[in-house]
Amino acid sequence: AAEPKYLTGDKVALNEFIDKFDTFLFDCDGVLWSGDHVYEGVPETLQLLRSKGWVLTAPLTFTPHSPLTGKRTVFVTNNSTKSRGEYAKKLNGLDIPSDVEDVFGSAYSSAVYISRILKLPAGKNKVFVIGEAGVEKELASEGVPFIGGTDENFRRDITPADFQGIADGSLLDPEVGIVLCGLDFHINYLKLAHGLHYLRRGAIFLATNIDSTLPLHHDLFLGAGSVMVPLANASGQKPLELGKPSQAMMDAIEGKFQLDRSKTCMIGDRLNTDIKFGIEGKLGGTLHVQTGVDKKEDWQKKDAIAVPSFYVDKLSDLRHAA
Ligand code: PLP
Ligand code: CA
Repeated sequence: AAEPKYLTGDKVALNEFIDKFDTFLFDCDGVLWSGDHVYEGVPETLQLLRSKGWVLTAPLTFTPHSPLTGKRTVFVTNNSTKSRGEYAKKLNGLDIPSDVEDVFGSAYSSAVYISRILKLPAGKNKVFVIGEAGVEKELASEGVPFIGGTDENFRRDITPADFQGIADGSLLDPEVGIVLCGLDFHINYLKLAHGLHYLRRGAIFLATNIDSTLPLHHDLFLGAGSVMVPLANASGQKPLELGKPSQAMMDAIEGKFQLDRSKTCMIGDRLNTDIKFGIEGKLGGTLHVQTGVDKKEDWQKKDAIAVPSFYVDKLSDLRHAA
């Protein structure tokens, strides 16, 4: 691959970069913010991109980020614990005007895959959820039935009666045909035991995303890809994953937003999710920022998992385009 182009401080290169694309896919955590702290200059950068681009031929009756008045911005996150609506709320609260339809998360990606691609027949299409409310909300938005998740009945210690009932099937729901695993802050043996036994009975194994770690407070905690490991280990199966870098997610985004892949750029901080996602999706470009998990030293390594086509120190460096 060609050497990534460094854009920070290079006005000409920045403008060329922006002009190449009509759509930017933004990873969120590590690019726009860290936790609840929005990085300086990010709202202004989004505003600039949304106002840059095509000549207005109609009165300004569109939302500020309409593709007719500037670059289109889509927020693509692997965080399955929040729904798209909650993400839009967070974006608005951080001065990045957005609505639900601007967000594409791994919980929604999973729900879309289940309802529109898998399309299991009624009576076999229930999902056993290991995950938080974000997954439940997106499944509900697609009309997919589910159990588990945040249900208090699964947030307790396992008992001898549970072992018995899971083994003989009397405690299992015969309608479950899918086990979907996302990040679950209440992961426990009882849930894992249910998940395993649905898999042993032939359920399809899906994961919202496989991020091994979760960045919090300038450190790393267990991500969805780590809480799913016991199930993979015990079942001997690998889940089909539906967050970045899965191309099932890219295909769904392409369908929804009518992407011209050659004019789309993925912006992210992680090589094995964001940058790989853009490269495997054959997007026109990928931009790596230095404000999240991976740094340029990671793609400079010989065995780097993915190498971006562009890089900046931080997202707000794009503001220095003319
Ligand atoms: N998963 C969870 C639960 C998270 O909280 C986060 C970041 O906040 C992520 C994944 C990574 O999200 P992103 O893809 O926006 O970096
Ligand atoms: Ca990220």
